[in-house]
Amino acid sequence: MLDSLLHKGRRKQLLASLLSKFDFNTLVIDAMDKVPRHMFVECGLDHLAYLDRPLPIGVKQTISQPYTVAMQSHLLSLKVNKFDKVLEIGTGCAYQTAVLSEMGYRVFSVERQKALYMLGQKNLVRLEYHSPLLFYGDGFAGLPKFAPFKGILITCGAPEIPQELLKQLSIGGRMVIPLGQETQKMVVIDRISKTEFEQTEHGQYKFVPMLEGVEDK
Ligand code: SAH
Repeated sequence: MLDSLLHKGRRKQLLASLLSKFDFNTLVIDAMDKVPRHMFVECGLDHLAYLDRPLPIGVKQTISQPYTVAMQSHLLSLKVNKFDKVLEIGTGCAYQTAVLSEMGYRVFSVERQKALYMLGQKNLVRLEYHSPLLFYGDGFAGLPKFAPFKGILITCGAPEIPQELLKQLSIGGRMVIPLGQETQKMVVIDRISKTEFEQTEHGQYKFVPMLEGVEDK
């Protein structure tokens, strides 16, 4: 499937409608303009790819709604600079991973479901994104070998703040995390010093849950 003029046109319309709702950082909009979202959704759903809604990606998971992707990327971009290391928890189909990569970050992404880890890998290779590094594992543990990260972005609803991930956030870094069980508050945590963190809230969202352990299918 190609990135046709029709797809590009629909993408521009979607981005214009997102900008009419919130003044997203240009860096985010430019990155989302480059990533063909229709190539990350299931075959047969590509005509829905440029509506502002989540879509199924298999094994009961979803690709996040474009507004949510834009907001999480925006919140991260206010603190994290080009070439900084970013850890994403919940690769899914790797759409958000590609957006973060287009924003110039060095992206490390962890997925707990093997089928999605493989789907993410396949999607990125097909679109010739070679620099994001994908890992199959439990995001609660993060990636201590590659820490610290200037940015940590969690794309599933966390029941509580994962302490191990806080340790892997660099001083001056920012974590964007949806917190809660049924619905989630978008929480931003800035690390001020070794022991001090500052927390702000940015609206209500609905994510699939952040679960412990891995699933081998
Ligand atoms: N960023 C993704 C969103 C996928 S939905 C996209 O653009 O498609 C959230 C993902 O988080 C799901 O794939 C789910 O399997 C994954 N997930 C949930 N708990 C996790 C954990 N503890 N570690 C890693 N991934 C997790």
